[in-house]
Amino acid sequence: MKKTDVIIIGAGPVGLFAVHQLGIKGLKAVVIDNLDKAGGQCIELYPDKPIYDIPAVPECTGEQLTTRLLEQIKPFKTDLFLNERVDEVYQEKDNWIVKTSSKKEFVASSIIIAGGVGSFEPRKLSLKQAESLEGKSIFYSVKNKEKFKNKNISIFGGGDSALDWALELSKFSKITLIHRRNEFRGAQHTLSEIKKLEKKGKISIKTPCQIESLDSEKKLKSITIKFDNGKLEKIPTDTILGFFGLIMKLGPIAEWGLNMDKKTIQVNSENFETNKKGIFAAGDICSYPGKLKLILSGFHEVALASVECFKRARPNEKYKFEFTTSSKTIQGRLGKK
Ligand SMILES: Cc1cc2nc3c(=O)[nH]c(=O)nc-3n(C[C@H](O)[C@H](O)[C@H](O)COP(=O)(O)OP(=O)(O)OC[C@H]3O[C@@H](n4cnc5c(N)ncnc54)[C@H](O)[C@@H]3O)c2cc1C
Repeated sequence: MKKTDVIIIGAGPVGLFAVHQLGIKGLKAVVIDNLDKAGGQCIELYPDKPIYDIPAVPECTGEQLTTRLLEQIKPFKTDLFLNERVDEVYQEKDNWIVKTSSKKEFVASSIIIAGGVGSFEPRKLSLKQAESLEGKSIFYSVKNKEKFKNKNISIFGGGDSALDWALELSKFSKITLIHRRNEFRGAQHTLSEIKKLEKKGKISIKTPCQIESLDSEKKLKSITIKFDNGKLEKIPTDTILGFFGLIMKLGPIAEWGLNMDKKTIQVNSENFETNKKGIFAAGDICSYPGKLKLILSGFHEVALASVECFKRARPNEKYKFEFTTSSKTIQGRLGKK
């Protein structure tokens, strides 16, 4: 079990800035996110769109904002646990314990939930046998590419994830890339690399078609796809990788005994604590009178929540408000001389 001062659930912009606000107060944190990268909605939903209302930053894209936030928290050397969903939260004396989908455990005196609109989860195959094959022959992300060596892989999807993994895994496996449309949405230069490999017989592309059925007993043997013209084709397959996009689900947050208002967590706007002492919520996931779902509101919310986290983590110390411009202690924590 990893011990830290504060567990941050969600690596969106608000979770990342929470690391900063805790770090300048001398608190250690871990950040856990279900996605495979930091940035939350900014990186998943609008990486290339410009944002115009971050104070003192006239314009930046979702991706640039994420990069800058990650740069800003570098001095704190915080561990980011990605591809992990926080499933359980429970109390042990004055501490909170968090368990993730891969059974990692963390303990801290405070939790900041910066879970946005919930966890981003992969859209899954709706076929009957698909659930029992998940994690064995059917995957919706690649955590360790070594597992995908020397296989017959059918990759579904038309975006960057499908194209990138088709190219990468073709180095050591047989790949069939399957998409329901003729056009791919992913980067065109990746697509042209794939088309070159198709000519060499290293990748096979099937469009416009969708999966019709799976042929499996204990193991996956083949799949049948159906083209838009009704034609069926059987493809020998031992592994399916599905990149059908993401859906947002509030997920397990609703089961942690917190006072909820529709799909948001009620907090008091003095310190952003929930009805559970030591659990705070900030960013899009929290609600209070006058709440605005803006990034800048989330930044303010974690600044205040971090003060309360300090009091819980250091009960014998007095919290001292300081400016970053004039505090040598803060500048030391930021690695400035
Ligand atoms: C198209 C679009 C444009 C926008 N433009 C602007 C704009 O111009 N200005 C502005 O201020 N705002 C804008 N917003 C809103 C802004 O993106 C959100 O206010 C902001 O992302 C909220 O940040 P957050 O960190 O609270 O949550 P999110 O960005 O939603 O991040 C939450 C993270 O928590 C993770 N998570 C949730 N539950 C769990 C769990 N149980 N375990 C592990 N991880 C979990 C999720 O996977 C996610 O990565 C825009 C939103 C959209 C969709």
